[in-house]
Formats: sequence, structure tokens, C-alpha cells
Amino acid sequence: MGKIIQLDDALSNKIAAGEVVERPASVVKELVENSIDAGSTVVEIEVEEAGLAKIRITDNGSGIEEDDVLTAFQRHATSKIKNENDLFRIRTLGFRGEALPSIASVSRLEMKTSTGDGAGDLVVIEGGKVVTFEKASSRRGTDITITDLFYNTPARLKYMKTIHTELGNITDVVNRLALAHPNVAIRLIHNERKLLQTNGSGDVRQVLAAIYGMSIAKQLVPVSGTSLDYKISGFASMPEVTRASRNYISTMINGRFIKNYSLAKAIQEGYHTLLPIGRFPIVLLNVEMDPLLVDVNVHPSKMEVRFSKEAELNELVTSIIKDTFKSKVLIPTAYTAVKKEVPKSEQTVLTLDEGTVTLDDESSNRNQNQNPSYGADQSIWMSEISHDQQKDPWDLPRAAEVREKLQPFVESERPTVIEQEVPHLPDHSGPASEPYADFTDDDVAIEMEDTTLTYAEETTYESRVPRMYPIGQMHGTYIFAQNENGLYIIDQHAAQERLKYEYFREKVGLVAPELQELLVPFTLEYSTDDYVKINEYRSELEKVGVFLEEFGMNSYIVRSHPQWFPKGQEKEIIEEMIEQLLEMRKVDIKKMREEAAIMMSCKASIKANRHLRNDEIQALLDDLRKASDPFTCPHGRPIIVHYSVYEMEKMFKRVM
Ligand code: ADP
Ligand code: MG
Repeated sequence: MGKIIQLDDALSNKIAAGEVVERPASVVKELVENSIDAGSTVVEIEVEEAGLAKIRITDNGSGIEEDDVLTAFQRHATSKIKNENDLFRIRTLGFRGEALPSIASVSRLEMKTSTGDGAGDLVVIEGGKVVTFEKASSRRGTDITITDLFYNTPARLKYMKTIHTELGNITDVVNRLALAHPNVAIRLIHNERKLLQTNGSGDVRQVLAAIYGMSIAKQLVPVSGTSLDYKISGFASMPEVTRASRNYISTMINGRFIKNYSLAKAIQEGYHTLLPIGRFPIVLLNVEMDPLLVDVNVHPSKMEVRFSKEAELNELVTSIIKDTFKSKVLIPTAYTAVKKEVPKSEQTVLTLDEGTVTLDDESSNRNQNQNPSYGADQSIWMSEISHDQQKDPWDLPRAAEVREKLQPFVESERPTVIEQEVPHLPDHSGPASEPYADFTDDDVAIEMEDTTLTYAEETTYESRVPRMYPIGQMHGTYIFAQNENGLYIIDQHAAQERLKYEYFREKVGLVAPELQELLVPFTLEYSTDDYVKINEYRSELEKVGVFLEEFGMNSYIVRSHPQWFPKGQEKEIIEEMIEQLLEMRKVDIKKMREEAAIMMSCKASIKANRHLRNDEIQALLDDLRKASDPFTCPHGRPIIVHYSVYEMEKMFKRVM
């Protein structure tokens, strides 16, 4: 007798559940996606104990017809595709027909649903077995409650991380769904605390503000661009607003959240040297494209996708981000953060943290209110955010249970990003970005630091940096300068690094470098592996003027170097260039040059504690005006901080 048997449905569903519903957050994702697919405009998510005790999703969508209710819980039962052709034209979030049966097989599930015509239905399923199926009065829509998730799969339950982590995953999922569907009002409540509420106005910025807070949202700049195959739109944080992880980079294809390694990398590449090492931007990008060019059928949770024409897409993304910040003035303005409780006489606190200026929301808002010079130009946020509070989507019978109302966008929340277009500047490419680590689970979206900066409006036709006049130098490190707009503090080392970097970047790019003979040639020795690799790419080094002559077993002799190499450091620099070449998995001459330029600029720059005369300061300030990226050093640290006259007057209580 044969040994192979067909597994029964209950068991197959449990197996599928292992893939589809890994953790509470995946249950939330599947159910909310179903609600959205059903055309809901309001979706409420209520969870207890990070979803392990209870998950309840209420929507006002189409509901399920009586005849379909039990079918919906069968494996591969879906209303969303009918045949193979549909598979390539998927416009809904779900299509596999696996979520409901999988979830029902590992929990106790109760669903009330109604299409709005006549009575609705109630179905109760425990561990995959239907225990109740009866008529029940219900308004149009679906209300699903999952309790005791994974109660019959103890191994899965054991695998759950802390409540904190699981809740983080849930907020992450809900935030993403809310961002992808600004036209759906979504509310998330955990243990009776409201964690998110959007208003369904269709304005992504309202969702961004609900997730990140108004002050961060105000520093997200709209980005967009198109190519033949792709249309990209979204928001990207000003370079000063950074996060410690890549989790705040969100990408969507045709409104569906996806994880794509190379797309996230392309975004980072766009920020180039504007971000400090190890810091990441907050970005939300949606790519619109022909669904035929993308394969979503790759992963059960449908997060990973493949594209045809991936290189075209990545290049477009990088250039959009790059161009966005190339045309903006990026001098952070210091703000006086005024704390309420502090006595008037001690009110002024200037906080400079990691080169950025931090303060709490409230003071920045107040500050903005009172600052007359920011009045007119703040239109990008205010004028476009919907103020329509009349039709509150949360005015549902069910939603009325929750008391909190959506925070209206009041006039006091003024935007702080001031944009100014400037003439086009020469192009250059980014340095090699570090290897991409996968998105981590443990980064909880609701725990965010809040960094607030504003960008001064200072520009002339030929430069994004204003003309500044030296006042003096402090501690051999900071340059003080002024003009009619106030005080500027410049980190002299950072400024020099930027200038040297731009100088070397141009030099390493030269086709025929002038060579300088070494008085004493030096030799370099490598392991056989490295030697083979170096030999393969030696010609690339020759292009920048570094000639390695073979010199016995695994060794080279170097007799000359490009004239412009920083003096006295020639050997070290050549060694480092070879080191970089060996580290690169794929040799990219552009990147190699970029890295060499960063390294040389660092070596050649004046260190702190070097006295500068006023004429030297003036020369540095003037050079900075000519730099193509004058606001951050090649490692992404800021170069200039500005104190406006108004701020100074406020500090000294000349104005209130
Ligand atoms: P899929 O979403 O892949 O079709 P599911 O198992 O998630 O598979 O859902 C099965 C079917 O149940 C859906 O195709 C849909 O017709 C119906 N359904 C599920 N949730 C809802 C809902 N909230 N409102 C209306 N219909 C729903
Ligand atoms: Mg589904």
C-alpha cells in the first residue's frame, strides 16, 4: 500500500498559516488589506496585547454576500482573480485567497458581515472549524474579531518576541497601509490607546503628519519625476532630519508597499554625502508603472517584487532625490527653544545636538508664529493640507465609541521648510554606500526622536551661500562671520574638507594626470588573492595616475604619483586606494574616485586648532560660495549654522 496521503484542509491551512500569518502584524496586514480591497473608506483596528489577545478590524466596505461567507474561508477562495490572465493585472492587495482560512485555522475568529441589503451574517470559527453560522443584524461592512491568536500552535506562540516588538510591527504595517491609502480613514488603537488616526482626505501629508508629527512632516519635501516607464512621486526628508535605521525609507509600487533592496539603495545614493555616515532619511516614494513590468507573485506576504528595467528605475530615483536637494539652501538656522516652566530670566536655551539644532515642537511652532520674516513663504504645507474637518469620517456609530477626535490642523502649526530654487550646479556622483542591511524588526516606528531645523533663505544668483564677512575665530575651530541677515558659525575643518573634496574629486577625474617622480620609490606587497585582483584592475588605477609596476613575487614598486596628491602622504593614499579597490565587490571607477577624493580631503584638511588670519578666513568663506555642495562635509556633517538677526534679538529680549 502506498504511503502518500492527501492532507486534509485543516492541516493544509495550518501549514499555509505558517507562511501567511507569521505574527500578529501579518494578521492585521491581511485583514486591513481585505477591508481596503472591499472599498472601505473607514477602517478601524483595535488590538490588545499586541494582537495576541485580540485583533478587531471594522470596516464599512462591501461586506460579503451570505452565499460567499463560508467559501471565503476555504483555501484559495478569492473574489479577486478568476484566471491566469488576471494574475498579471492585479489591482487589489490580496489575490491568493489564503489569508482568511489561514488566520481562522490558528485562532478563534468571529465575523459579522453585511452587504447592506437585508440582514447580515455571523460566523464563528475555532481552530478552522465553523461553530456558528447564522443571520445577524449588521450594518454594511465587515467586523472581524480574532482572539487567542496561535492558541493551537504553541510553537508559533513561543516564537513571538516581546509585546513591544510585536506592537512595533503592527504600527509599522498600519502606518504603511495608511500612507499607501490616504483616501481611507484608518485608526489604530492598542489597549485603548489611540496610536494612529488619519482622516481619509486623500492627502498623504496629513498621513505623514499623523505618523511622524507635524514638525517632521513639515520637513518632508515633495519629490517627483518621470521616465518613459515610470512615474515617481513622494516625500523626502531634508538632509538634517535623519534616523538611525533604514526603516523610515518606504517604497510603494502602484500604491502597494514593497521591500526592494536596490530601490532603497538608490534613494540613499540620491542623498549622496548629504547624510552623516550611519544615518538615514525619512522617505516615502510611490512608483507608478505598468503592472506588467512588475512581478508581485514572488513572496507570500507580497512584500518583495521584481522589476524589469530595474536599472532605469534606480537611476531615476537617485537623480530625483539628488536634484531635489541640489536646488535647496541647506543652512540650518539655530532656534531659541523656550521652555514653558523655566523662569523668564533663564528662558533662552540653544541646543546643538550632533551638529543639528533640536528643540521641542511647541517652541518651534511658537517661534514660527512670532517670526514675521517667515510669513509669506510658508505656503507649501499650509495651503495644500486639507482643512476640511466638517466631514469627519470617524462619525460612524462604531467609531463613536472612541472619544478622541482627529487633531485639526490649526493655523499655529506653521511650516518651517522654505524652498528656493537656485541655478543648476555641476553634477557629481555619490560615494559607495555601505552594504545594505535588511530592514530590522526591532525598530519601532512610534518611538521617534524629533529633530527640528529650518532652512534659511539666503541666496544670491551665483551661489547658495550668502556673502559673509569674517568676525573672527574661536578655539582655532569655529569661524564667526556676519552679514545683514545675522551671524554665521562655520566649522572650519568641515568647510575645508568639503572644499578639498571637491578639488580632489575634480583632480581624480582628470584624464591625463601630471606625474611627480618619487625620490625614493616604495614597494607594496599583497597576498596572492589580492595580487590577482589588483592586477585585474590595475588599469583603473592608472587612469587616476597611480602606476603599479610588478616587482617580484606578489609585489609592486611605485615610482611616481599624481602631482596633486597631498604632500607627504602619497604612499598612504596609494595604499588606501588599493584597499578600497580590494573591498569593492564590483569595481566602479566613479565610486573609486569618489572614495579616493573623500579620503584625500580628510587627510589634507586643516585640523581643528589651527589659527586662521582674517584674510584666510575670507578666502575660505569665498571658496565656500563657489563649492557645489557647500552645506555639508563629505561625511554629511553640517558646515554652516545661521543665527538670524531676529533670533539674536529674541535671545536678548529686544523683541518678544
Ligand atoms: P484574498 O484577499 O486573497 O482574496 P482572503 O482569504 O484574504 O483572500 O479573502 C477571501 C475573500 O473574502 C476575498 O476575496 C473577499 O471576497 C472576501 N473578503 C475578505 N475580507 C473581506 C472584507 N473585509 N470585506 C469584504 N470582503 C471580504
Ligand atoms: Mg486578502
